[in-house]
Amino acid sequence: MKCSKCDEELVVRKTEFDYLGSTFSHEVPVCPKCGKVFISKELALGKMSEVEQQLEDK
Ligand SMILES: [Zn+2]
Repeated sequence: MKCSKCDEELVVRKTEFDYLGSTFSHEVPVCPKCGKVFISKELALGKMSEVEQQLEDK
């Protein structure tokens, strides 16, 4: 997988996300040059619903 902009090979990096005031980290492919994070829609939606679930449990 390559960055469409820089034509650089993506590297997998642990990246932190903020959503609804919660922070979670996940290993995602990142472009080493421009820092663009390539996150799949499925992962984003899955993580978001996970966070929402945790908030509801409180
Ligand atoms: Zn790039």
